[in-house]
Amino acid sequence: MATSPESEHPIKAYGYAARAPSGSLSPLVFSRRATGEKDVRFKVLYCGICHTDLHLAKNDWGITKHEIVGVVTEVGSKVEKFKVGDKVGVGYLVGSCRSCKNCASDYEQYCPKQVATGGFTYFDGTQTYGGYSDHMVSDEHFVLHWPENLPLDSGAPLLCAGITTYSPLRYFGLDKPGTKVGVVGLGGLGHIAVKMAKLLAEVTVFSTSMAKKQEAIEGLKADHFINSRDEDQMKAAMGTLDGIIDTVSANHPILPLLAHLQHMESLFFLEYHRNHLI
Ligand SMILES: [Zn+2]
Ligand SMILES: [Zn+2]
Repeated sequence: MATSPESEHPIKAYGYAARAPSGSLSPLVFSRRATGEKDVRFKVLYCGICHTDLHLAKNDWGITKHEIVGVVTEVGSKVEKFKVGDKVGVGYLVGSCRSCKNCASDYEQYCPKQVATGGFTYFDGTQTYGGYSDHMVSDEHFVLHWPENLPLDSGAPLLCAGITTYSPLRYFGLDKPGTKVGVVGLGGLGHIAVKMAKLLAEVTVFSTSMAKKQEAIEGLKADHFINSRDEDQMKAAMGTLDGIIDTVSANHPILPLLAHLQHMESLFFLEYHRNHLI
C-alpha cells in the first residue's frame, strides 16, 4: 500500500513546511516513527531559523529546520544518556553510518551517508522533517544535553550558526589569547562569529556598510571596524590577521581580504552561494 507523510509512521505530528517556491510556510500534518531502542523523543519548545532555511523555504533545497530545543518525553529501552524531562537540542544531523573513518573519529558531518535533520531520506526510507513541529524523534547519538544556564530560546542558534563559526576558530587555533581574527559581514553568522572570537581574540569586522560600525564596536564589542569599500582603511590593516571568517553569501572580492592575512594564515568561507557549489 502506498505510504504518505501523514500515515507512514505510527505517531501523528503537526508542523509547518515550505512546499512551494514562494517561500511561504503552511501547516503540515505528518507522522514520526515510534520511539526505537536508541531513540529520544522530545517536545519541541524552540527552533531557530538559519540562512540555510531561507534557501529551503524557497524550495531551493527542500524542507528543514535544524536548531531545535525541547524537553524529553520518551526514551527507548537502550538509551543511556537521557531521561524523561531532560532539556535537549538537535542540530543539523540526525543520522550517519556510524562505522566509516569519519564517524569513528567523531566527524559525522563528513560521513558520506549522513542524514540531515530535514529534507533527507532516513535509513528506514522515509523523509526527515526537521524541527518546525510539535515533537521530534532522534537517535540519542545526535541529541545534546542542554546546559541549565543557557536560555532555551536565544541559545537555539548555537546548534548551527554557533558550531559553524566556533569550529574554524577552535580547530585552527584562533581561540587563543592574543590572536587577531577578522570577521567579514555582520549578518547572522557574522554576529555569532564576533561574539565567539571576542571571548579570547582581538576582532576586526569588515563590512561594506558603515551603518554596521556602531553595532560591531558598541553592540558586539569588536576591537576594530573596517569599511571594506574604503581603500585607505583596507591598506592600513594589511598583513595583520591570523585568520579571517568570511560570512558573506553575496558575490564579493576575495583578494583584498587575503592581503590582510599574515603569511601562511587562512581565510574560511562559511557562506553558501549556489555558484560556489556547482
Ligand atoms: Zn560514517
Ligand atoms: Zn543552519
